[in-house]
Amino acid sequence: MADGYRYGELTWPQVKEAAARGAVAVVPIATIEDHGPHLPIDTDLRLCNAVCEEAVSRAHDRAVLVPAINHGYSPHHMDFPGAITIGAHTLIDYGLDVCRSLAHHGFRKILIVNGHGSNTPFIDIIARLTVVETDVLAAAINYWAAPGVREAAESLRESERIGGMNHACEFETSLYLAIRPDLVDMSKAVHELSHRPTKNYWTDLIGGDGPLVMMEHWSSLTKTGVMGDPTKATAEKGRKLLGAAANGIVEIIDEMLARAPVRRTDHH
Ligand SMILES: [Zn+2]
Repeated sequence: MADGYRYGELTWPQVKEAAARGAVAVVPIATIEDHGPHLPIDTDLRLCNAVCEEAVSRAHDRAVLVPAINHGYSPHHMDFPGAITIGAHTLIDYGLDVCRSLAHHGFRKILIVNGHGSNTPFIDIIARLTVVETDVLAAAINYWAAPGVREAAESLRESERIGGMNHACEFETSLYLAIRPDLVDMSKAVHELSHRPTKNYWTDLIGGDGPLVMMEHWSSLTKTGVMGDPTKATAEKGRKLLGAAANGIVEIIDEMLARAPVRRTDHH
């Protein structure tokens, strides 16, 4: 069953076998929200799924791909039609329940791969709670922060160093063009850099954020929903970014496999 890496396509004896051989359970998580006038609202979900599919297919002998948690934390996007948000506590409970279930079935390593920036604090909490509750080694990463992605993106970047790759931007639009070009309307792509960086506050998916962390209502920051420059996106860039992200996630899967399982010592 080396090729059966999609968790939902396995039978229960195959799930049992995958857990027994120590496969890493990879759990994508994203959201549904506006991505400008040129990209579908499923952008975060489709991109995250595509990266995870490519990564786990490459590591099919040592990982399984769990069906994604489709919904995430997007209350600040509700001024734009389309966003579906779930509450902060709901998201934590949902993710934790998925991890508890995987732990119950014998998976000892769980990797949460996130595709939506505002899920970041919650995936950290979900992974931490999984460790303290189940003793399973759980970890979380944003796919754009996987090893090698930043270098690949900076080498391709034509948009502004800060803010040009932020949301519905050169980075995300390139990836979507590589995955489903028929769903991207480049004639509607607009360049909007309106997140108002200040001395200690700035954001860029690839360049990183400033030390001051805050999230205002999206409609107060951008008219179109775009933050960045999608007009610089190409499918060729997207293919390179997809390859780099998949490589990076495989590297993380192998790093988790090499790491010793969680072992507690009670010193009472
Ligand atoms: Zn996005």
